[in-house]
Amino acid sequence: MADSPLLGPVKRSRVQIRIITHLIVLLGAVGCMRSQGLPDTDGHAEIDSAANSIPAHHQADGTFTNTNGQAINKSLGDLIKAFNEQKKPDPVDFPVLTPNQILIENPTANQITWIGHSTFLLQVDGLNILTDPHFTERASPFSFMGPKRIVPPALTLEQLPNIDAVIISHNHYDHMDEDTLYSLVQQQPDNPPHIFVPLGLKSWFDEDDFPNVTELDWWQALTLGETTFVSVPVQHWSARGIFDRNKSLWAGWVIDTPHLRFLSVGDSGYSADFKKIGECFPGIDLAAIPIGAYNPRWFMQDAHMNPDEAVQVFQDLGAEQGIGMHWGTFILTFEEMTEPPKRLHQAMANAQLSPDRFVAMQHGETKILEANQPYPSESTCIQNEKSSG
Ligand SMILES: [Zn+2]
Ligand SMILES: [Zn+2]
Repeated sequence: MADSPLLGPVKRSRVQIRIITHLIVLLGAVGCMRSQGLPDTDGHAEIDSAANSIPAHHQADGTFTNTNGQAINKSLGDLIKAFNEQKKPDPVDFPVLTPNQILIENPTANQITWIGHSTFLLQVDGLNILTDPHFTERASPFSFMGPKRIVPPALTLEQLPNIDAVIISHNHYDHMDEDTLYSLVQQQPDNPPHIFVPLGLKSWFDEDDFPNVTELDWWQALTLGETTFVSVPVQHWSARGIFDRNKSLWAGWVIDTPHLRFLSVGDSGYSADFKKIGECFPGIDLAAIPIGAYNPRWFMQDAHMNPDEAVQVFQDLGAEQGIGMHWGTFILTFEEMTEPPKRLHQAMANAQLSPDRFVAMQHGETKILEANQPYPSESTCIQNEKSSG
């Protein structure tokens, strides 16, 4: 594989370019601040604009906004203020369970394994799907600095089964890891995974000739076999360098298989989007919802929900089961690393919901998923079904 012509030279040149251009983004890779935008009174600009040819979240300058009409864009001054006002939490050496390799290779039931941060291995109806795969040492454009992994991935790349599909929520470094993606493709040269990305990100993959990449706008879908992948709106922002803020979209992904309706939220602040997603996709069996990287609130809340808001999202979605994502792996913000699961448990109790319906899994834990009754995967909210050809 080392001598594969795929990706090598182009990748090296991109590394050099990004060292020059990405320093500021490294500083700002977490946290967000709202900037000017065109507020929408009811938070449903997307729906109201359906009759227009250009969706409301597409801006004239080529950037994207959230469904409330607002872009998230922080100033360097606020970033410095946020990082000066609190002490970074201590690292926590969470135990990492060893997944059962035999069942990972040949699952006897539908199952999901938490590899760490926002990376899950979802194995359902014969498909192996990775969410926001990140298996390297840092969530950063640099190999020598930037947020360092505190807890190792529960599986190595080599321990993964053949991956059929990868979903990417957005281009931040803790969700879209270049080296991981290269490795995934290179270790499956004959049948590389299908990579689903939000609108505007395909060109990044095309630069390095990644095969099988599909980019989808919100409410667009692609069906592979019996499984439909739908890009849905969440409230966040994007950037990898200093000149590309919000030039590619961010998205949650609904994955409808014959026996599971799954949602991976990715990164999001609390928003009206989740009620809409729940209306469009009733009966979500399992939702992966972020519960970490939320303090300080004045700086983070537009882009990252806290556990209380995550429970509200769980209720807005009408999901049957929830699992926490985006915690316990990197230190990105200022809450203690152990705080998100405790607050999640308390928030479920406060909402008079059984805490075992929305849980924070242990690193490496595998959760067996019940096979549910099949239901029609079509949703009237899907505006454009792409061809898989
Ligand atoms: Zn992000
Ligand atoms: Zn993130």
